[in-house]
Amino acid sequence: MRVLGRLRLSVASDESTSIERQREAVESWSQANGHQVIGWAEDTDVSGSVDPFDTPRLGDWLANRADDFDVIVCWKLDRLGRDAIRLNKLFGWCIDHRKTVVSCSEAIDLGTPVGRLIANVIAFLAEGELEAIRERTISSRRKLRETARWPGGRPPYGYRVVPAEQGSGKVLQIDETISHRRDCPKGSSPCECPKAHAVVRRIVDAVLDGQPLGRIARELNADGILPPADHYRVSVGKPPATEGTWRTWPLKHMLRSPTLVGHAHLGGVTVRDDQGQPVRMAEPLVSDDERELILAELDRTTGAPRERAQPAPLAGIAACFFCGTTLTLTTNKKSGRVYRYYRCPKACSSLIPADAAEELAETTFLDDYGSRDVTERVWVPGDNHETELRAALAAFDELSATAGRMTSRAAQDRLQRQLSALDARIAELESTPTREGRYEDRPTGRKYRDAWEQAAEPAERRELLKRAGITIRIGISGVGKRHQNNGGVWHAEIHSPVPLDETASLEERRKHGVPD
Ligand SMILES: [Zn+2]
Ligand SMILES: [Zn+2]
Repeated sequence: MRVLGRLRLSVASDESTSIERQREAVESWSQANGHQVIGWAEDTDVSGSVDPFDTPRLGDWLANRADDFDVIVCWKLDRLGRDAIRLNKLFGWCIDHRKTVVSCSEAIDLGTPVGRLIANVIAFLAEGELEAIRERTISSRRKLRETARWPGGRPPYGYRVVPAEQGSGKVLQIDETISHRRDCPKGSSPCECPKAHAVVRRIVDAVLDGQPLGRIARELNADGILPPADHYRVSVGKPPATEGTWRTWPLKHMLRSPTLVGHAHLGGVTVRDDQGQPVRMAEPLVSDDERELILAELDRTTGAPRERAQPAPLAGIAACFFCGTTLTLTTNKKSGRVYRYYRCPKACSSLIPADAAEELAETTFLDDYGSRDVTERVWVPGDNHETELRAALAAFDELSATAGRMTSRAAQDRLQRQLSALDARIAELESTPTREGRYEDRPTGRKYRDAWEQAAEPAERRELLKRAGITIRIGISGVGKRHQNNGGVWHAEIHSPVPLDETASLEERRKHGVPD
């Protein structure tokens, strides 16, 4: 196996944990087990409380060079991270990416049953720590200030670390520095490279536009925009990694983080003050309303099948005429030729030849919609206090859930104060008239026929239909036993959120022979 050696040292170092001792331990373990060390993730001056994904070197390996190693080996688990929440997150990543973790001095190997047991214990501890965080309330001003300080390590993309204006420590500020593209001849003339926070905006807009993360990452790479780890390297005066790229997983991590709205957080859980309000660590990069939409969008796409290189032109658009179930594409090979069919999973209809179905979908669509305006679904945000109301209700629920676990009198009193404050705020918000956020189908001024003809690839046409919320129901009825002699009757019907002016009966619009 290919070993990535993990070496970490905080500021105050003692001999027993020196980088060299850690390196020796990893090397001798690798030698003894017949593995090869292919690289080192060495972070000095980084404390164990920093999220492994935010450490300069290890974070870079995880984000950009995950394909280069099979196992992360460290001297002790605390070299990876001190608290269970962060370790657990790293283990989760390792499982997702088929990596193992080995701690040589503690003889822990996540690849073994015992190691997995330990990982389970850590996951259990992480849950306990998260609960403790939810219960934690921060009342003193000093504590509040500390929480709003940046603890160290790589800042979230879109922010940079600056000295605090008041008192000691560092704080986050929106990153106004130019993020030069990989091929930008810096300094020669004013260039058009974007600021880092503008790149965040571009990503957020693309996500809200319903674009898959994989495509967003590909387009950023094609544009030569430096990925977060490289942008950070450049900002501290180092050259960018030669093959650093944007990837789906770090994008998701970034979009889910509460820092996007400027909240201080621990392990992804927003820290709240005495009033139950979130503690601000920085200016928000996106509004609360947008963040809610982003999370909804990520939830929607999580667990969905990966974007395939060549999806069926009617994937997600075509449904069974008889039962409404989404049709799937299947292929049959017969005497060297490949036949493509759409089929209903419930088998209401016989196999629908794909070429004919796609042609039928196109003509039906252009006949009915060709001269209509292209509409696009646009999110119209509600009045601001509606978002605030939802946030207050969520905070109320979150705090109420902890009530049962509080044992001390002081904690119960504090919780009661938070809940009353939130309750009052909710009542106030509820008495204000609200307008809910909603989707609207707006005309874009283009005609569908033009848009269709300008679209170069099937995927673009599919996107056009999808964005318009259009689906087509297709089916074949009355097919005889011998397909060659009886082609059956085709049925097709377009469904759209914008109602058709006249209802055209499309049944028996076209008869078609089924190929053998
Ligand atoms: Zn530039
Ligand atoms: Zn069906």
